[in-house]
Amino acid sequence: MRVKVPQQDSKERIKNFFEVALGFSKEQAEQEASRCLQCKDAPCVKGCPVEIDIPAFIKLIKVGKRKEALAKIKEKNNLPAVCGRVCPQEDQCELACVLNKKKIPINIGALERYASDSPERFCPPEAFPPPERFCVAVVGSGPAGLTCAADLAKMGFAVSLFESLHAAGGVLVYGIPEFRLPKKIVESEIDYIKSLGVEIKTDVLIGRTYTIEDLFKQGFKAVFLGLGAGLPQFLGIPGENLGGVYSANEFLTRVNLMKAYAFPKYATPIALGKKVAVVGGGNVAMDCARVAKRLGSEVTLVYRRTEKEMPARVEEVANAQDEGIAFQVLTQPIKVLGDEKGLVKGLECIKMELGAPDASGRRRPVPLKDSNFTIVIDTLIVAIGQNPNPLLGKVTSGLKVNDDGTVAVDKNFMTSLAGVFAGGDIITGADTVIRAMGAGKKAALAIARYLGENASPP
Ligand code: FAD
Ligand code: SF4
Repeated sequence: MRVKVPQQDSKERIKNFFEVALGFSKEQAEQEASRCLQCKDAPCVKGCPVEIDIPAFIKLIKVGKRKEALAKIKEKNNLPAVCGRVCPQEDQCELACVLNKKKIPINIGALERYASDSPERFCPPEAFPPPERFCVAVVGSGPAGLTCAADLAKMGFAVSLFESLHAAGGVLVYGIPEFRLPKKIVESEIDYIKSLGVEIKTDVLIGRTYTIEDLFKQGFKAVFLGLGAGLPQFLGIPGENLGGVYSANEFLTRVNLMKAYAFPKYATPIALGKKVAVVGGGNVAMDCARVAKRLGSEVTLVYRRTEKEMPARVEEVANAQDEGIAFQVLTQPIKVLGDEKGLVKGLECIKMELGAPDASGRRRPVPLKDSNFTIVIDTLIVAIGQNPNPLLGKVTSGLKVNDDGTVAVDKNFMTSLAGVFAGGDIITGADTVIRAMGAGKKAALAIARYLGENASPP
C-alpha cells in the first residue's frame, strides 16, 4: 500500500495559511521507501527532467540516512524542498515508476520532501571552489535562473543574478501560496544558492536599469535570461475592466509577496467580495480559489471543459474540492456585469459541451445554443494563463522573439544574440518548475562550453 501524506484537516485549513500537506514522519518515510524495487535502469529517473538518482536516495531513506539522501538529491537538484512540494510527480517520475502499472507508484515527491526537510538541510558542498572564472549575469530569479546560477557557480563561474522584484524566487515567492510552499522554505533554498557564491541583486529591471549591452560592458561574458511568463492573459469579454476584476497575477502577488493575508501586520490590504468566481482550471486557478476561500469568500471555479481535462495537479484539484470550492464546469464566461458604480455584480456565462480533440489533445469545448445564465458575484479573478514577459524583447535590438512572445533559442539555449542564453517559461510559455529547472541546468552547461570556446580569461 502507498503510504498517504498526512494533511491539515480541510475544515481547519481553510481558516489559515499554514501548509496543507504535513510531510512524512520517519516511520512513514522508511515504510514508503521500503516499497521501492530498486530497479536497474530505473524508469523513474528518466521521468525526472533533472535526472535525480531516485532509487539511490530512496535506499538511503530506507536505512535511516536522511541527510545523505538529501546530498544525493542535491547532486542534480538545487531546489529539492520546492520540488518535493510542487512538482507534478504524477506526470513525471511517478508516472514512469514500474509500480504505477498497479496504480501504486512510490510516493517519490513526498520522499524528496522528507529528505529535503531534514534538520541538516542547509548543506553546501564541502569542496566548493572559489569563483575564479568568467563572470556570468543571470536575469530573473525563478527556478530557471536560480538553477542556472547555482550550476554555473558549482562549475567555478562568478555569477550575479538580477531580479526586478524586491525578493528572489520568481513564481515560487509571488505566485504559489504559503499553504503549498512556505516562503521560509524558498528562502532557505535561496540561502543555499547564495552559499555557493551567487550574488543576488534585487530591484534591478534589466531592460530599464541596465540593458543587455550594459551587462557586457560591465564585464559579464555571457548572459542567461530566465524571465518567466508573468504577463496575464484576459478573457477579452465586455466588462473585464470593471472594479473587482483581478488578474490571477495581481491577486496572488498582493496576497503572497505583499502578504495581504496578514493585513494589518503587512500594509497591503486586498478588496475581496463575498462571492468570488475564478475562471480557469490550472494550478494558478486552484491557488486563486483556495486563497480567496481562506480570505473568507464563497468561491466558484468556472471552467470550460470538465474536471478530467483540468491541467492542475490532481492533488490540488482534490484539495480545492475538499476545501469547499464549487466547480462550475463546462461553462464559458461571456460578459462581466457591473452595477451603477462600475463594480462587478455578476458573470454572464454560456454552457459548453465537449467536441472533437483540439491541438492539445483535449476535447474542444463547444458552446450550447441558448444556454446563457448568470452567476451572482462581486469579485472575478481571471486565471486562464500567462504569456512571456515582453519587456526585454521590445528594448533589445537583435533579440529574436517568436509570434507567441517566447524568446527564440537554438538547441544550446542560445538566443539570436551571441553569448545570450535563455530558458524556462520565457522560451516555452507557462510550464512547470522542474522543466524550468531542467532548462536552467542545460543552459548552464551550454554557457560553460561557450565560454570555454569563445571567451578569453578575465
Ligand atoms: P519565473 O518563476 O516566472 O521567474 C522569472 C523571474 O524573472 C521573476 O522573478 C521576474 O520578476 C523576473 N524578471 C522578469 N523580467 C525581468 C527583467 N527584465 N529583469 C529582471 N528580472 C526579471 N509549476 C509546478 O511545477 N507546480 C506547481 O504547482 C505550479 N504552480 C503554479 C502556481 C502559480 C500561481 C503559477 C503562476 C505558476 C505555477 N507553476 C507551477 C508554474 C511554475 O511556477 C513556472 O513554470 C516556473 O516558475 C517558471 O520558472 P521561470 O524561472 O522560467 O520563471
Ligand atoms: Fe523505485 Fe519506482 Fe523508481 Fe523502480 S521505478 S526504482 S520502484 S521509484
